[in-house]
Amino acid sequence: MTATADQTTNHFVEQWLSALRLDERYRTLLLTPTREVRVELTITKDDGSLGTFIGYRVQHDDSRGPFKGGLRYHPSVEIDEVRSLASLMTWKTAVVNVPFGGAKGGIQVDPAQLTPRELQRLTRRFVDAIGSVIGPHVDIPAPDVNTNAQVMSWIFDQYSKRFGFSPAVVTGKPVHLHGSLGRDAATGRGCLFAVRQVLAAEGKKLEGTRFAIQGFGNVGSWLARLLAERGAKVVAVTDTHGGVAHGDGLDVARLMAHRAEARTVAGFAGGQPIDNDALIAVDCDVLAPCALGHVLTADTARHVKAKYVLEGANGPCTIEGDEELARRGVVCIPDILANAGGVTVSYFEWTQNIQQHSWGEDEVNEKLERAIVHAHAAVEQARRELRCTMRTAAFVVAIRRVQRATDARGLD
Ligand code: NAD
Repeated sequence: MTATADQTTNHFVEQWLSALRLDERYRTLLLTPTREVRVELTITKDDGSLGTFIGYRVQHDDSRGPFKGGLRYHPSVEIDEVRSLASLMTWKTAVVNVPFGGAKGGIQVDPAQLTPRELQRLTRRFVDAIGSVIGPHVDIPAPDVNTNAQVMSWIFDQYSKRFGFSPAVVTGKPVHLHGSLGRDAATGRGCLFAVRQVLAAEGKKLEGTRFAIQGFGNVGSWLARLLAERGAKVVAVTDTHGGVAHGDGLDVARLMAHRAEARTVAGFAGGQPIDNDALIAVDCDVLAPCALGHVLTADTARHVKAKYVLEGANGPCTIEGDEELARRGVVCIPDILANAGGVTVSYFEWTQNIQQHSWGEDEVNEKLERAIVHAHAAVEQARRELRCTMRTAAFVVAIRRVQRATDARGLD
């Protein structure tokens, strides 16, 4: 039977727990979320009928700082996946060494079925329901799948009505409403720095390296744009509607223009059509899944021709997919390092809000680069020390940091 999202995360966590030979009490402590909140949200729809939705917030660990993590609006949102993503956030914030813990949340809803007014009402109701367990020094939500700067603005506004002016209660806000320059590109930029460091450790360069990217949303499209700027080749991309490939590299600027108009990369004239299965098997150096979880299974991982997998998405590998990649010598740059640029710049946004200050975009990008370079160096050191995969090494770095913080705060 395929493992659930939560079982997959815990499997990876247990791998490093055994690598570190941690005793049983840490095992339980680190696998168990601190708090899980489930709320019923009822709104009056525009036609006068009632709509009832279920929302979740899972707070996994706050030993290193306030809980931090995104909010997802999707019909498939359920407690198991939210728990898994909350745990991943604990390790991600620790790997990049930002002073936060881990959380995640969401509402089981298809936002496309609601009007903007209904979506606003639902978001405000959610803030009312979880308001007592979030806050600038308690738990700071952020955007995730199907939530954006507008949703974050409503959260900021609703929370501030009850608790006073609080821009730092949420990150991913618009730049004109206490957001940070550089946040939009941050996850793709972080992916770029992570893969650059991994290649450099093996004496390789970005220039001329061939990438295939699944997903052309925030993460995938920024990654493609930044790669093209640095002379790398984007040989294939896909999104929900299809994809396009060109062995010599796609013209990313033209592809962006096509996507802006057609709302998909499919149908782009500068290459041949390709579907998602073919993308995974395409001839390239780096495969970057930047869309969904669990796309690299034992079955699909067998077809990967790339030497590296760059996890822009959260949890793209199943347990078996991860094992298959390792068995075949494919280097997997794990999500908790690869896509940590987003939470890093969220931390910068929070810091600017707390200090009532705003930084320039170059300053944000330079600080982000430093954070990812340091994180990669720590992971690489652990990988050499333990002779393990990069994923295990990243978890080892994270658990050591969380464990030290937990110990220093004191366990009664
Ligand atoms: P998004 O909604 O902006 O984009 C998602 C993209 O994936 C879209 O192009 C969509 O068409 C495509 N997609 C969806 N289903 C697909 C399928 N079956 N096959 C191929 N493509 C498909 O989302 P995003 O913000 O870019 O996030 C993508 C992933 O990255 C998610 O796993 C998210 O949790 C993770 N992530 C995002 C951030 C961030 O800052 N946005 C940070 C860390 C991790």
